[in-house]
Amino acid sequence: MMPIDATLPYDDSNIFARILRGELPCKKVHEDAFSLAFHDINPQAPLHILVIPKGPYVSWDDFSERGSDAEIAGFVRAVGQVARDLGLVAPGYRLLANVGLDSHQEIPHLHVHLFAGQKLGPMLAR
Ligand code: 5GP
Repeated sequence: MMPIDATLPYDDSNIFARILRGELPCKKVHEDAFSLAFHDINPQAPLHILVIPKGPYVSWDDFSERGSDAEIAGFVRAVGQVARDLGLVAPGYRLLANVGLDSHQEIPHLHVHLFAGQKLGPMLAR
């Protein structure tokens, strides 16, 4: 897939918008008023979860600028809750959010990747 330009307006035909509308399936691990978490379809670690806000936000940039305080608090708490529920605090985990072209963000709906289940090594390829 091509990386997306995170400055473009939100397009609700993206895959995660379709998952939120129930048009596409997902392996759900958590849902609340503001957030949905599900397994990545192509895991890059033994455990690879995506946490997304329910609102229409292209990226972390968009969400941090336009999201309401309640949405932001709800989403940040959901990310932590998912990790706690999965027992990941003691072994540790990694969060990652790609924004735009240089990061190779592919889906234009904010998602935080949660990786766990092994020693994750250096933060970036060397
Ligand atoms: P990005 O590169 O945008 O940060 O990450 C997009 C992620 O979405 C990738 O890890 C990719 O495997 C995942 N993904 C793409 N399409 C689907 C899908 O239809 N379902 C799920 N669960 N994950 C997807």
